[in-house]
Amino acid sequence: EEANGQLTFVGGHVKGVAVPCAREESEIASNIVYHAQYTPHFYPLRFDLEHAFYAAAQSVRDYLVQRWNSTYLQFHKADAKQTYYLSMEYLQGRALTNAIGNLGITDGYAQALKSFGYLLEDIVEQEKDAALGNGGLGRLASCFLDSMATLNLPAWGYGLRYRYGLFKQRITPEGQEEVAEDWLEKFSPWEIVRHDIVYPVRFFGHVQINPDGSRKWDGGEVLNALAYDVPIPGFNTKNTISLRLWEAKASAEDFNLFLFNDGKYEDAAHFHSKAQQICAVLYPGDATENGKILRLKQQFFLCSASLQDIIYRFKERRSAVNWDNFPNKVAVQLNDTHPTLAIPELMRLLMDDEGLGWDSAWDLTYKTFAYTNHTVLPEALEKWSQDIMRKLLPRHFEIIEEIDKRFKEMVHATKKDMAGKLPGMQILDSSNPQKPVVRMANLCVVSSHTVNGVAQLHSDILKAELFADYVSIWPNKFQNKTNGITPRRWLLFCNPELSQIITKWLKTDEWITNLDLLSGLRTFADNEDLQEEWGRAKLASKNRLVQYVYNATGVSIDPNSLFDIQVKRIHEYKRQLLNILGAVYRYKKLKEMSETERQKVTPRTIMIGGKAFATYTNAKLIVKLVNDVGAVVNNDPETNKYLKIVFIPNYNVSVAEVLIPGSELSQHISTAGMEASGTSNMKFALNGCLIIGTLDGANVEIREEIGEENFFLFGAKADEVPRLRKEREMGMFKPDPRFEEAKEFIKVGTFGSYNYADLLSSLEGDSGYGRGDYFLVGHDFPSYIDAQSQVDEAYKDRKRWLKMSILSTAGSGKFSSDRTIAQYAKEIWGIEECRVP
Ligand code: PLP
Repeated sequence: EEANGQLTFVGGHVKGVAVPCAREESEIASNIVYHAQYTPHFYPLRFDLEHAFYAAAQSVRDYLVQRWNSTYLQFHKADAKQTYYLSMEYLQGRALTNAIGNLGITDGYAQALKSFGYLLEDIVEQEKDAALGNGGLGRLASCFLDSMATLNLPAWGYGLRYRYGLFKQRITPEGQEEVAEDWLEKFSPWEIVRHDIVYPVRFFGHVQINPDGSRKWDGGEVLNALAYDVPIPGFNTKNTISLRLWEAKASAEDFNLFLFNDGKYEDAAHFHSKAQQICAVLYPGDATENGKILRLKQQFFLCSASLQDIIYRFKERRSAVNWDNFPNKVAVQLNDTHPTLAIPELMRLLMDDEGLGWDSAWDLTYKTFAYTNHTVLPEALEKWSQDIMRKLLPRHFEIIEEIDKRFKEMVHATKKDMAGKLPGMQILDSSNPQKPVVRMANLCVVSSHTVNGVAQLHSDILKAELFADYVSIWPNKFQNKTNGITPRRWLLFCNPELSQIITKWLKTDEWITNLDLLSGLRTFADNEDLQEEWGRAKLASKNRLVQYVYNATGVSIDPNSLFDIQVKRIHEYKRQLLNILGAVYRYKKLKEMSETERQKVTPRTIMIGGKAFATYTNAKLIVKLVNDVGAVVNNDPETNKYLKIVFIPNYNVSVAEVLIPGSELSQHISTAGMEASGTSNMKFALNGCLIIGTLDGANVEIREEIGEENFFLFGAKADEVPRLRKEREMGMFKPDPRFEEAKEFIKVGTFGSYNYADLLSSLEGDSGYGRGDYFLVGHDFPSYIDAQSQVDEAYKDRKRWLKMSILSTAGSGKFSSDRTIAQYAKEIWGIEECRVP
């Protein structure tokens, strides 16, 4: 019965569900014991840390499944408009702390585990990160899911279940080494395989024209998409939504027993091997044609399975299908252009399977999709070879051609003055006859009702530059949705000491779901008692980080030094090279000082971490350079009391959860105009860490919120960058002697025998992407060094520093993903709360 938490089955349909959740330690303990004994993953007479983690996680999963069922039923009954978030990446990290925290049963679990002789902190460490993403874009998707659940929104995510994720980073004397991520080596206790949710996905084949002129895609290769659901609990609500991850499977019928018995084992399992390739890794190398086809297959696999599932649900919820109602019930958000193929796939399903005409299908498609742009970097704007697209997806290519044709006709008919701009706006670009391409961002803009950027500056740049011509056609299509982060994972759970202090001083814990309340801390920013408590909390987090760094790298760092952190993907535009050149300059100056002079210097520990894409040579060289510099600096007895430089290996979500609370200064120093938003900047600021940064991405808004006196600003502004590049091309750039000094110090072999001439030459010369200092490291170097000197001075005044730190947290309210998602819900998706009673 509903009242005691059972499902009631009526004629094969579920009628009602209630939602129990144990709070008593004894009940939790018996649930854990049950799983330790009866969930057959481990030898039942063993109960070590790892076994205890899996048993605890499985017991938490039971609550999540019950809540997931109630939530699904609630959405089903209300038949509310629902959002589907399509993303090729999710960086979920670990789930246990988050799940029990959101369910409000952390204390119960801590007590129950203690009764078995285990500490919750140790159990939590057993969990492997679900790292199905690359960086900020994937972590954003995960923060959004948390906020969608917490805000009780009828929404969920779709993605792919990559067996080996991106990669695990190892550091060797040669630099970065990539090894396969092993998050599924045993199993993930959080996913629930749905054997009844399977859709066929086709590749290749041909288009058949029926006698009535309609079309059918036939032949080729068909694989099945099987659903795995990861429950996503909201905070302080019963609502638990789903991240549905697809896995590719071949069926038993595809297994050729005849060939197998003939000893041709590989040929017999040909389709099974094809299926395994699809979900093997995120971003398979795409230097070869095979690699390109595999990536496009992955994208289509996500889109086709998700769209079929969305249509299935739309039909399941009504007895008679009225397609006009589709956009009133379905909103699809494209997280960047990776899932763009969902657009032609919806057109195909509506026309070829459901029998709608072009105009109706287009009207519904247009009203369904919205697209988020995440980058203005030219090399990151996806383009697919028309030949590959035509071969892999012949029907979709036809549909894309038709969308393009009709778009051009519309412009000629209604926006004649824009016709001259069509070469830049059209979807198919055949200007290079050797390499005709499909421009995915253009397809998204033409086919979506709304396009958004992810920070105000980025959205302004999209409107003024990248998509300026489209703005003339659709002035109301473009919006801004400044990114956000979930305050549960990124403050409440990762920084319990600071969270308690905030709750104590605000006299409420409502800030957890209403982050604007943090502004109440401003009143106390000068209060000595708060500053004292704040400083102690920071020290506790720094001490945890000291231990982590020692375990991960063997380097001992001083908890009283200034902890200066830059963690993010390694990319030339993010300018880790500026950071390390600054560090090299600092080291050189320390070497030149007398010991008496050195004693006046603010001691620093500089930590840099992040993964370099496996084929990105300069990024990998930067990783090696940081490690080589660290090896010398950290072992220099003359200076290592004042400076240490540590490369943090294998940066991921759970590493971020230790680094961010322990940080005092963090670096967000991209060339202005190039970082769309950044989200780690928000996480650091929320945890009372000061930022040294450029006026780029969300830094601009963070600085506005926390006050310019609490932000160490330097560098060129976005609107100066084109002129500075031009001047450089014309040979007008005069490098600062300090910049030359830092580079020279590396070139003469201070940090080992490796010759960094190639890497450093990217900062030299006059022009060109990849040389001529496209990212303006040389231009910004002197103002960066000056800003770092201001940091050193500010840190010497502990009261001032603590005040700035408190004001950083106090000004971070705007950057809750709850705010971001509430704006998407209202201004893009048109969806409303649908709460499990
Ligand atoms: N990678 C991980 C593991 C993260 O947690 C984040 C954000 O915090 C990012 C990458 C993105 O970092 P950034 O916004 O600095 O690019």
